[in-house]
Amino acid sequence: MKSMVYLAAALVMLGAKPAAASSQAGGSVPATVAQPIVLHAARLFEVVPGRIVSPGEVLVEGGRIEAAGTSVPHPAGAKVIDLGDMTLMPGLIDAHVHLFLHPAPPSEGMQTVDESAPQRTIKAVLAAKSDLMAGFTSERDMGTEGAGPADAAVRDAIDAGDIPGPRLRISGMAISILGGHEDAVGFNPEQHVLGNADYANDSEQLIETIRKQHKEGASFAKIYVTGPDRMVPAGSAPCLGDPICKQLGIGEEPGDPGFWDFHTTYQYTEDQLKAAVNEAARLNTNVGVHCQGEPAARLAVEAGVSSIDHATQLSQGTMTLMKQKDIPAVPTFVIFKYFADHAPDSAAARREYAMLDYKIHEFKRQVAAGVPMAVGSDVGPFPHGTQAQEFELMVKYGMTPLAVLQADYLNGARILTWENRVGQLKPGYLADVVAVPGNPLQDITRVEHVQFVMKGGVVYRGGGAE
Ligand SMILES: [Zn+2]
Repeated sequence: MKSMVYLAAALVMLGAKPAAASSQAGGSVPATVAQPIVLHAARLFEVVPGRIVSPGEVLVEGGRIEAAGTSVPHPAGAKVIDLGDMTLMPGLIDAHVHLFLHPAPPSEGMQTVDESAPQRTIKAVLAAKSDLMAGFTSERDMGTEGAGPADAAVRDAIDAGDIPGPRLRISGMAISILGGHEDAVGFNPEQHVLGNADYANDSEQLIETIRKQHKEGASFAKIYVTGPDRMVPAGSAPCLGDPICKQLGIGEEPGDPGFWDFHTTYQYTEDQLKAAVNEAARLNTNVGVHCQGEPAARLAVEAGVSSIDHATQLSQGTMTLMKQKDIPAVPTFVIFKYFADHAPDSAAARREYAMLDYKIHEFKRQVAAGVPMAVGSDVGPFPHGTQAQEFELMVKYGMTPLAVLQADYLNGARILTWENRVGQLKPGYLADVVAVPGNPLQDITRVEHVQFVMKGGVVYRGGGAE
Protein backbone atom coordinates (compact mmCIF):
# COMPACT_ATOMS: atom_id res chain seq x y z
CA MET A 1 0.00 0.00 0.00
CA LYS A 2 2.71 2.38 1.05
CA SER A 3 4.85 1.53 -1.93
CA MET A 4 1.85 2.13 -4.20
CA VAL A 5 1.47 5.66 -2.81
CA TYR A 6 5.11 6.42 -3.40
CA LEU A 7 4.93 4.88 -6.84
CA ALA A 8 1.94 7.06 -7.69
CA ALA A 9 3.72 10.16 -6.39
CA ALA A 10 6.82 9.30 -8.38
CA LEU A 11 4.82 8.75 -11.55
CA VAL A 12 3.14 12.11 -11.11
CA MET A 13 6.47 13.86 -10.66
CA LEU A 14 7.65 12.19 -13.82
CA GLY A 15 4.60 13.45 -15.65
CA ALA A 16 2.75 10.14 -16.08
CA LYS A 17 -0.80 10.60 -17.32
CA PRO A 18 -3.65 10.29 -17.08
CA ALA A 19 -4.42 7.82 -14.27
CA ALA A 20 -1.66 8.85 -11.86
CA ALA A 21 -2.14 12.52 -12.63
CA SER A 22 -5.83 12.43 -11.86
CA SER A 23 -5.13 10.56 -8.65
CA GLN A 24 -2.65 13.20 -7.49
CA ALA A 25 -4.27 16.31 -8.86
CA GLY A 26 -7.92 15.36 -8.91
CA GLY A 27 -8.31 12.97 -6.04
CA SER A 28 -10.49 9.90 -6.27
CA VAL A 29 -13.88 10.91 -7.55
CA PRO A 30 -16.80 9.56 -5.52
CA ALA A 31 -19.44 7.69 -7.50
CA THR A 32 -22.05 10.38 -6.79
CA VAL A 33 -20.30 12.91 -9.03
CA ALA A 34 -20.88 10.69 -12.06
CA GLN A 35 -24.24 12.48 -12.24
CA PRO A 36 -23.82 15.59 -14.41
CA ILE A 37 -24.17 18.88 -12.53
CA VAL A 38 -25.19 22.21 -14.02
CA LEU A 39 -24.17 25.26 -12.00
CA HIS A 40 -26.21 28.38 -12.71
CA ALA A 41 -25.61 31.89 -11.34
CA ALA A 42 -26.20 35.53 -12.26
CA ARG A 43 -22.62 35.93 -13.52
CA LEU A 44 -19.49 34.02 -14.57
CA PHE A 45 -15.90 35.27 -14.67
CA GLU A 46 -13.93 34.45 -17.82
CA VAL A 47 -10.29 34.64 -16.82
CA VAL A 48 -8.40 35.10 -20.10
CA PRO A 49 -10.69 37.61 -21.82
CA GLY A 50 -10.98 39.22 -18.38
CA ARG A 51 -14.72 39.76 -18.36
CA ILE A 52 -17.90 38.90 -16.54
CA VAL A 53 -20.67 37.32 -18.60
CA SER A 54 -24.30 37.07 -17.53
CA PRO A 55 -25.85 34.73 -16.68
CA GLY A 56 -23.24 32.07 -16.01
CA GLU A 57 -23.44 28.30 -16.35
CA VAL A 58 -20.97 25.44 -15.93
CA LEU A 59 -21.61 21.82 -16.87
CA VAL A 60 -19.63 19.36 -14.77
CA GLU A 61 -19.23 15.67 -15.49
CA GLY A 62 -16.90 13.12 -13.93
CA GLY A 63 -14.99 15.76 -11.99
CA ARG A 64 -14.21 17.87 -15.05
CA ILE A 65 -15.73 20.87 -16.77
CA GLU A 66 -17.62 19.90 -19.93
CA ALA A 67 -18.86 23.36 -20.89
CA ALA A 68 -18.96 26.89 -19.46
CA GLY A 69 -20.48 30.18 -20.61
CA THR A 70 -23.78 32.02 -20.56
CA SER A 71 -25.60 28.74 -21.21
CA VAL A 72 -24.55 25.10 -21.37
CA PRO A 73 -26.31 21.86 -22.40
CA HIS A 74 -28.52 20.40 -19.64
CA PRO A 75 -28.15 16.62 -20.08
CA ALA A 76 -31.05 14.40 -19.03
CA GLY A 77 -30.78 13.60 -15.35
CA ALA A 78 -28.40 16.48 -14.61
CA LYS A 79 -28.59 18.04 -11.17
CA VAL A 80 -29.07 21.81 -11.48
CA ILE A 81 -27.66 23.98 -8.69
CA ASP A 82 -28.98 27.54 -8.94
CA LEU A 83 -26.72 29.88 -6.97
CA GLY A 84 -28.75 33.02 -7.64
CA ASP A 85 -27.08 36.44 -7.46
CA MET A 86 -23.52 35.18 -7.42
CA THR A 87 -20.47 35.10 -9.69
CA LEU A 88 -19.04 31.73 -10.72
CA MET A 89 -15.24 31.70 -10.75
CA PRO A 90 -12.47 29.10 -10.87
CA GLY A 91 -11.32 27.87 -7.45
CA LEU A 92 -8.82 30.29 -5.92
CA ILE A 93 -5.10 29.49 -5.92
CA ASP A 94 -2.77 30.30 -3.02
CA ALA A 95 0.82 29.99 -4.23
CA HIS A 96 2.36 30.30 -0.76
CA VAL A 97 0.88 28.58 2.29
CA HIS A 98 2.05 26.77 5.41
CA LEU A 99 -0.53 24.20 6.47
CA PHE A 100 1.84 23.19 9.28
CA LEU A 101 1.87 26.61 10.95
CA HIS A 102 -0.83 28.18 13.10
CA PRO A 103 -1.10 31.65 14.65
CA ALA A 104 1.02 32.30 17.73
CA PRO A 105 1.22 36.13 17.85
CA PRO A 106 3.31 38.20 17.81
CA SER A 107 5.27 35.86 15.50
CA GLU A 108 5.28 32.11 14.99
CA GLY A 109 6.36 31.46 18.58
CA MET A 110 8.05 28.19 19.46
CA GLN A 111 5.43 25.92 17.88
CA THR A 112 7.93 24.15 15.65
CA VAL A 113 9.98 23.15 18.71
CA ASP A 114 7.16 22.64 21.24
CA GLU A 115 4.73 20.62 19.15
CA SER A 116 5.28 17.12 17.80
CA ALA A 117 4.92 16.31 14.12
CA PRO A 118 1.74 14.25 14.80
CA GLN A 119 0.21 17.20 16.72
CA ARG A 120 1.12 19.54 13.92
CA THR A 121 -0.26 17.15 11.30
CA ILE A 122 -3.66 17.14 12.99
CA LYS A 123 -3.66 20.94 12.89
CA ALA A 124 -2.57 20.85 9.24
CA VAL A 125 -5.59 18.68 8.41
CA LEU A 126 -7.87 21.29 10.01
CA ALA A 127 -6.01 24.09 8.20
CA ALA A 128 -6.49 22.35 4.85
CA LYS A 129 -10.23 22.22 5.45
CA SER A 130 -10.37 25.92 6.41
CA ASP A 131 -8.49 26.92 3.25
CA LEU A 132 -10.75 24.83 1.02
CA MET A 133 -13.93 26.21 2.61
CA ALA A 134 -12.61 29.74 1.96
CA GLY A 135 -12.47 28.89 -1.75
CA PHE A 136 -8.83 27.86 -2.19
CA THR A 137 -8.90 24.69 -4.26
CA SER A 138 -5.18 24.65 -5.21
CA GLU A 139 -2.25 25.51 -2.98
CA ARG A 140 1.52 25.34 -2.93
CA ASP A 141 2.67 24.44 0.59
CA MET A 142 6.04 26.10 1.12
CA GLY A 143 7.49 23.83 3.78
CA THR A 144 6.43 21.96 6.91
CA GLU A 145 8.93 23.96 9.00
CA GLY A 146 10.22 21.10 11.08
CA ALA A 147 7.51 18.47 10.55
CA GLY A 148 9.55 16.51 8.00
CA PRO A 149 7.61 15.01 5.08
CA ALA A 150 4.29 14.93 7.01
CA ASP A 151 2.69 17.08 4.30
CA ALA A 152 2.83 14.06 1.96
CA ALA A 153 0.41 12.24 4.27
CA VAL A 154 -1.96 15.21 4.26
CA ARG A 155 -1.85 15.55 0.47
CA ASP A 156 -2.38 11.84 -0.06
CA ALA A 157 -5.36 11.75 2.32
CA ILE A 158 -6.91 14.71 0.47
CA ASP A 159 -6.29 13.06 -2.90
CA ALA A 160 -7.85 9.83 -1.66
CA GLY A 161 -10.98 11.77 -0.65
CA ASP A 162 -10.47 10.84 3.02
CA ILE A 163 -10.30 14.46 4.26
CA PRO A 164 -11.37 17.78 2.70
CA GLY A 165 -8.63 20.09 1.46
CA PRO A 166 -7.16 21.83 -1.57
CA ARG A 167 -5.09 20.10 -4.24
CA LEU A 168 -1.57 20.43 -2.90
CA ARG A 169 1.87 20.92 -4.29
CA ILE A 170 4.18 20.13 -1.39
CA SER A 171 7.88 20.55 -0.66
CA GLY A 172 8.27 18.52 2.53
CA MET A 173 10.79 20.52 4.53
CA ALA A 174 12.22 23.67 3.02
CA ILE A 175 15.99 23.75 2.40
CA SER A 176 18.42 26.18 4.05
CA ILE A 177 22.07 26.53 5.06
CA LEU A 178 23.77 25.67 8.35
CA GLY A 179 23.47 28.71 10.60
CA GLY A 180 21.17 30.33 8.05
CA HIS A 181 17.75 31.90 7.98
CA GLU A 182 15.75 28.89 9.17
CA ASP A 183 18.36 27.39 11.48
CA ALA A 184 17.83 27.42 15.25
CA VAL A 185 20.38 30.15 15.95
CA GLY A 186 20.71 31.51 19.48
CA PHE A 187 19.93 28.40 21.50
CA ASN A 188 22.23 26.51 23.85
CA PRO A 189 24.46 24.66 21.35
CA GLU A 190 24.58 21.66 23.72
CA GLN A 191 20.84 21.16 23.16
CA HIS A 192 21.35 20.65 19.42
CA VAL A 193 18.08 22.36 18.52
CA LEU A 194 17.28 21.57 14.91
CA GLY A 195 16.35 24.18 12.34
CA ASN A 196 13.00 24.28 10.52
CA ALA A 197 14.55 23.28 7.20
CA ASP A 198 16.72 20.49 5.80
CA TYR A 199 20.36 21.55 5.69
CA ALA A 200 22.19 21.88 2.36
CA ASN A 201 25.41 23.86 2.12
CA ASP A 202 26.58 23.34 -1.44
CA SER A 203 25.43 22.04 -4.83
CA GLU A 204 26.00 18.39 -3.97
CA GLN A 205 24.04 18.68 -0.75
CA LEU A 206 21.24 20.55 -2.52
CA ILE A 207 20.95 17.74 -5.07
CA GLU A 208 21.08 15.06 -2.39
CA THR A 209 18.43 16.83 -0.30
CA ILE A 210 16.11 17.31 -3.28
CA ARG A 211 16.46 13.58 -4.06
CA LYS A 212 15.71 12.63 -0.46
CA GLN A 213 12.64 14.89 -0.38
CA HIS A 214 11.46 13.50 -3.71
CA LYS A 215 11.72 9.99 -2.24
CA GLU A 216 9.62 11.17 0.71
CA GLY A 217 6.87 12.47 -1.59
CA ALA A 218 7.73 16.12 -2.25
CA SER A 219 6.35 17.57 -5.46
CA PHE A 220 8.77 20.53 -5.69
CA ALA A 221 11.70 22.01 -3.74
CA LYS A 222 11.47 25.09 -1.50
CA ILE A 223 14.72 26.90 -0.79
CA TYR A 224 15.42 29.78 1.58
CA VAL A 225 17.73 32.04 -0.42
CA THR A 226 17.79 35.08 1.89
CA GLY A 227 17.93 36.04 5.54
CA PRO A 228 18.23 37.40 8.08
CA ASP A 229 16.66 40.72 7.04
CA ARG A 230 17.04 44.15 8.55
CA MET A 231 16.13 47.72 7.84
CA VAL A 232 19.22 49.93 7.64
CA PRO A 233 19.67 53.70 7.70
CA ALA A 234 18.78 55.39 4.40
CA GLY A 235 21.70 55.83 2.07
CA SER A 236 23.97 53.25 3.69
CA ALA A 237 23.74 51.08 0.56
CA PRO A 238 24.70 47.79 2.25
CA CYS A 239 24.89 45.87 -1.01
CA LEU A 240 27.57 48.12 -2.47
CA GLY A 241 30.43 46.54 -0.55
CA ASP A 242 29.43 43.01 -1.46
CA PRO A 243 31.52 41.46 -4.25
CA ILE A 244 28.52 39.65 -5.71
CA CYS A 245 26.54 42.90 -5.88
CA LYS A 246 29.51 44.53 -7.55
CA GLN A 247 29.79 41.72 -10.08
CA LEU A 248 26.08 41.99 -10.90
CA GLY A 249 26.14 45.79 -10.98
CA ILE A 250 23.43 45.90 -8.32
CA GLY A 251 23.37 48.88 -5.99
CA GLU A 252 25.06 51.27 -8.34
CA GLU A 253 21.98 52.24 -10.25
CA PRO A 254 20.60 55.69 -9.57
CA GLY A 255 17.00 56.06 -8.58
CA ASP A 256 14.98 55.54 -5.46
CA PRO A 257 17.04 56.93 -2.58
CA GLY A 258 15.28 54.69 -0.10
CA PHE A 259 15.89 51.55 -2.11
CA TRP A 260 18.71 50.22 -0.01
CA ASP A 261 16.97 50.80 3.31
CA PHE A 262 16.49 47.08 3.40
CA HIS A 263 19.28 44.56 3.67
CA THR A 264 19.14 40.79 3.46
CA THR A 265 21.92 38.20 3.32
CA TYR A 266 22.07 35.80 0.38
CA GLN A 267 22.42 32.09 1.18
CA TYR A 268 23.39 30.41 -2.10
CA THR A 269 25.42 31.30 -5.18
CA GLU A 270 23.95 31.29 -8.67
CA ASP A 271 25.78 28.05 -9.51
CA GLN A 272 24.34 26.34 -6.46
CA LEU A 273 20.82 27.49 -7.30
CA LYS A 274 21.30 26.34 -10.89
CA ALA A 275 22.26 22.89 -9.60
CA ALA A 276 19.03 22.80 -7.58
CA VAL A 277 16.90 24.01 -10.49
CA ASN A 278 18.49 21.43 -12.82
CA GLU A 279 17.88 18.62 -10.36
CA ALA A 280 14.25 19.70 -9.92
CA ALA A 281 13.90 19.83 -13.72
CA ARG A 282 15.26 16.29 -13.96
CA LEU A 283 12.38 15.31 -11.68
CA ASN A 284 9.98 17.26 -13.91
CA THR A 285 9.32 19.90 -11.28
CA ASN A 286 10.58 23.30 -10.13
CA VAL A 287 12.07 25.29 -7.26
CA GLY A 288 10.22 27.84 -5.12
CA VAL A 289 12.15 30.31 -3.02
CA HIS A 290 11.80 32.51 0.01
CA CYS A 291 13.55 35.60 -1.35
CA GLN A 292 13.33 38.99 0.32
CA GLY A 293 15.79 40.95 -1.78
CA GLU A 294 19.07 41.56 -3.56
CA PRO A 295 21.46 40.19 -4.57
CA ALA A 296 19.75 36.81 -3.97
CA ALA A 297 16.78 37.79 -6.14
CA ARG A 298 19.04 38.25 -9.16
CA LEU A 299 20.87 34.98 -8.49
CA ALA A 300 17.58 33.09 -8.16
CA VAL A 301 16.06 34.63 -11.29
CA GLU A 302 19.22 33.89 -13.29
CA ALA A 303 19.08 30.29 -12.03
CA GLY A 304 15.45 29.98 -13.19
CA VAL A 305 13.36 29.47 -10.06
CA SER A 306 9.56 29.35 -10.46
CA SER A 307 8.75 32.56 -8.57
CA ILE A 308 10.29 35.11 -6.20
CA ASP A 309 8.33 34.91 -2.97
CA HIS A 310 8.10 37.97 -0.68
CA ALA A 311 10.07 40.00 -3.30
CA THR A 312 10.45 42.88 -0.89
CA GLN A 313 13.42 44.34 -2.79
CA LEU A 314 14.11 43.92 -6.51
CA SER A 315 16.67 45.91 -8.49
CA GLN A 316 15.79 47.37 -11.88
CA GLY A 317 17.89 44.72 -13.63
CA THR A 318 16.18 41.89 -11.76
CA MET A 319 12.73 43.29 -12.56
CA THR A 320 13.62 43.44 -16.26
CA LEU A 321 14.85 39.86 -16.16
CA MET A 322 11.72 38.64 -14.35
CA LYS A 323 9.62 40.22 -17.05
CA GLN A 324 11.75 38.65 -19.80
CA LYS A 325 11.75 35.20 -18.21
CA ASP A 326 8.13 35.50 -17.02
CA ILE A 327 9.03 34.72 -13.41
CA PRO A 328 6.34 36.13 -11.08
CA ALA A 329 6.82 37.92 -7.79
CA VAL A 330 4.61 36.72 -4.92
CA PRO A 331 4.36 39.70 -2.55
CA THR A 332 2.71 38.00 0.48
CA PHE A 333 1.35 41.22 1.98
CA VAL A 334 -1.03 39.72 4.54
CA ILE A 335 1.71 38.18 6.66
CA PHE A 336 3.66 41.45 6.86
CA LYS A 337 0.52 43.37 7.82
CA TYR A 338 -0.45 40.75 10.38
CA PHE A 339 2.96 40.83 12.07
CA ALA A 340 2.86 44.66 12.12
CA ASP A 341 -0.69 44.72 13.51
CA HIS A 342 0.25 42.17 16.21
CA ALA A 343 3.65 43.54 17.21
CA PRO A 344 4.30 43.03 20.95
CA ASP A 345 5.45 46.61 21.64
CA SER A 346 5.70 49.99 19.96
CA ALA A 347 9.36 49.57 18.95
CA ALA A 348 8.58 46.28 17.22
CA ALA A 349 5.51 47.81 15.61
CA ARG A 350 7.65 50.64 14.21
CA ARG A 351 10.06 48.12 12.71
CA GLU A 352 7.31 45.97 11.22
CA TYR A 353 5.42 48.93 9.75
CA ALA A 354 8.68 50.32 8.31
CA MET A 355 9.16 46.99 6.54
CA LEU A 356 5.54 46.99 5.30
CA ASP A 357 5.83 50.59 4.05
CA TYR A 358 9.05 49.75 2.26
CA LYS A 359 7.38 46.70 0.73
CA ILE A 360 4.38 48.69 -0.51
CA HIS A 361 6.70 51.27 -2.03
CA GLU A 362 8.73 48.61 -3.83
CA PHE A 363 5.59 46.75 -4.97
CA LYS A 364 4.42 49.90 -6.74
CA ARG A 365 7.75 50.09 -8.58
CA GLN A 366 7.40 46.43 -9.54
CA VAL A 367 3.86 46.89 -10.86
CA ALA A 368 4.99 49.96 -12.82
CA ALA A 369 7.89 47.93 -14.26
CA GLY A 370 5.51 45.20 -15.45
CA VAL A 371 6.86 42.43 -13.21
CA PRO A 372 4.49 39.44 -13.46
CA MET A 373 2.72 38.67 -10.18
CA ALA A 374 1.10 35.69 -8.49
CA VAL A 375 -1.02 35.56 -5.34
CA GLY A 376 0.40 33.88 -2.26
CA SER A 377 -0.44 34.81 1.30
CA ASP A 378 2.04 32.94 3.54
CA VAL A 379 -0.98 31.89 5.61
CA GLY A 380 -0.26 29.81 8.70
CA PRO A 381 1.15 32.39 11.12
CA PHE A 382 -2.22 34.12 10.60
CA PRO A 383 -5.49 32.14 10.56
CA HIS A 384 -6.10 29.67 7.76
CA GLY A 385 -9.17 30.49 5.70
CA THR A 386 -8.64 34.28 5.97
CA GLN A 387 -5.95 34.63 3.31
CA ALA A 388 -8.18 36.03 0.55
CA GLN A 389 -7.25 39.40 2.08
CA GLU A 390 -4.14 39.12 -0.11
CA PHE A 391 -6.25 40.00 -3.17
CA GLU A 392 -7.59 43.09 -1.40
CA LEU A 393 -4.11 44.30 -0.39
CA MET A 394 -2.65 43.79 -3.87
CA VAL A 395 -5.48 45.96 -5.24
CA LYS A 396 -5.07 48.50 -2.44
CA TYR A 397 -1.37 48.86 -3.25
CA GLY A 398 -1.67 49.30 -6.98
CA MET A 399 -3.12 46.51 -9.12
CA THR A 400 -6.60 46.34 -10.63
CA PRO A 401 -8.97 43.60 -9.44
CA LEU A 402 -8.79 42.02 -12.91
CA ALA A 403 -4.98 42.02 -12.94
CA VAL A 404 -4.84 40.40 -9.48
CA LEU A 405 -7.36 37.71 -10.43
CA GLN A 406 -5.54 36.92 -13.69
CA ALA A 407 -2.23 36.82 -11.79
CA ASP A 408 -3.74 34.38 -9.32
CA TYR A 409 -5.34 32.04 -11.81
CA LEU A 410 -2.85 32.08 -14.68
CA ASN A 411 0.52 32.59 -13.00
CA GLY A 412 -0.59 30.60 -9.96
CA ALA A 413 -1.49 27.60 -12.12
CA ARG A 414 1.85 27.88 -13.92
CA ILE A 415 3.90 28.06 -10.69
CA LEU A 416 2.07 25.00 -9.42
CA THR A 417 2.74 23.33 -12.81
CA TRP A 418 -0.99 22.78 -13.23
CA GLU A 419 -1.63 25.03 -16.22
CA ASN A 420 -4.29 23.52 -18.50
CA ARG A 421 -5.78 21.83 -15.44
CA VAL A 422 -6.80 24.56 -12.97
CA GLY A 423 -7.38 28.31 -13.00
CA GLN A 424 -10.01 28.58 -15.73
CA LEU A 425 -13.60 27.54 -16.33
CA LYS A 426 -12.94 25.76 -19.60
CA PRO A 427 -13.85 22.36 -21.05
CA GLY A 428 -11.35 19.72 -19.93
CA TYR A 429 -10.23 21.61 -16.83
CA LEU A 430 -10.74 20.09 -13.39
CA ALA A 431 -14.13 21.13 -11.99
CA ASP A 432 -12.87 23.51 -9.31
CA VAL A 433 -15.52 26.21 -9.08
CA VAL A 434 -16.38 28.78 -6.42
CA ALA A 435 -19.09 31.42 -6.24
CA VAL A 436 -19.05 34.83 -4.58
CA PRO A 437 -21.88 37.29 -4.05
CA GLY A 438 -21.59 40.43 -6.19
CA ASN A 439 -19.02 41.28 -8.85
CA PRO A 440 -15.35 40.76 -7.92
CA LEU A 441 -14.15 42.98 -10.78
CA GLN A 442 -15.98 45.89 -9.16
CA ASP A 443 -15.21 44.92 -5.57
CA ILE A 444 -12.27 42.56 -5.00
CA THR A 445 -13.26 41.99 -1.35
CA ARG A 446 -16.04 39.73 -2.72
CA VAL A 447 -13.44 36.94 -2.88
CA GLU A 448 -13.30 37.06 0.92
CA HIS A 449 -16.94 35.93 0.97
CA VAL A 450 -16.92 32.67 -0.98
CA GLN A 451 -20.26 30.90 -0.48
CA PHE A 452 -19.96 27.92 -2.78
CA VAL A 453 -17.01 25.55 -3.22
CA MET A 454 -16.69 22.66 -5.66
CA LYS A 455 -13.44 20.75 -6.13
CA GLY A 456 -13.08 18.03 -8.73
CA GLY A 457 -16.85 18.05 -9.21
CA VAL A 458 -17.53 17.46 -5.50
CA VAL A 459 -19.52 20.17 -3.68
CA TYR A 460 -17.90 21.02 -0.32
CA ARG A 461 -19.77 24.18 0.56
CA GLY A 462 -23.13 25.72 -0.42
CA GLY A 463 -25.40 24.33 -3.12
CA GLY A 464 -27.01 21.95 -0.63
CA ALA A 465 -23.71 20.59 0.75
CA GLU A 466 -24.41 22.05 4.21
ZN1 LIG B 1 6.41 31.17 3.85
